[in-house]
Amino acid sequence: MRILVIEDEHRIANSIKKGLEQETYAVDVVYGGNDGFDLASTEDYDLIILDVMLPEMDGITICKELRKNHVHSPILMLTAKGQMHDKVEGLDCGADDYLTKPFAFEELLARIRALTRRPKTSLSTILSVGNLHLNPNQFQVNRGKVPIKLSRKEFSLLEYLMRNVGKILSKNQIVSHVWNYDADILPNTVEVYVKKLRGKIDVPFKDEKPLIHTIRGFGYKIGE
Ligand code: CA
Repeated sequence: MRILVIEDEHRIANSIKKGLEQETYAVDVVYGGNDGFDLASTEDYDLIILDVMLPEMDGITICKELRKNHVHSPILMLTAKGQMHDKVEGLDCGADDYLTKPFAFEELLARIRALTRRPKTSLSTILSVGNLHLNPNQFQVNRGKVPIKLSRKEFSLLEYLMRNVGKILSKNQIVSHVWNYDADILPNTVEVYVKKLRGKIDVPFKDEKPLIHTIRGFGYKIGE
């Protein structure tokens, strides 16, 4: 899951980034409205956290313009107390939810979870493929009854594959949802991580069917 944070207060922006990275999200931060709008328009984010008061271009305008340009990523607006006259203004511009500053980080996480799982898995928060189960909120993965320990990056890669069960995902798509803008991506980064993941979820389970499949020339998919 890759998130864009558009917030001019560096301290807030950086603490959101730090906190979200600990939760295995890939995070890009921009401090200005123009940069934010450009990045949000060109990259495919799973969620955008957008402050209302920004230099150059304010959050409400950015939100409206993005929706006009058919950017459908969920948008969570950040507002200072009394800044937004009522909920309607924020939600009218096409935002999905809003949060008033100051907020508790746990509250931000809860909103993000709600927004990012809404489109695909509205009923169950546990993602499953065959007997492989992943709980995005608890960072737990198990195959059958065996718990599997993954690094943060392996976890976010597996989560991305599992949210797209049966779909062939190109390496570029994987990179753009699992790694952030400044990450050092080498041509074989995705291969290396897929190999690590296979070594944990497929290789040790000799009696089970492998779940991660390489589609030569296209990319990868997860499925039974
Ligand atoms: Ca601001």
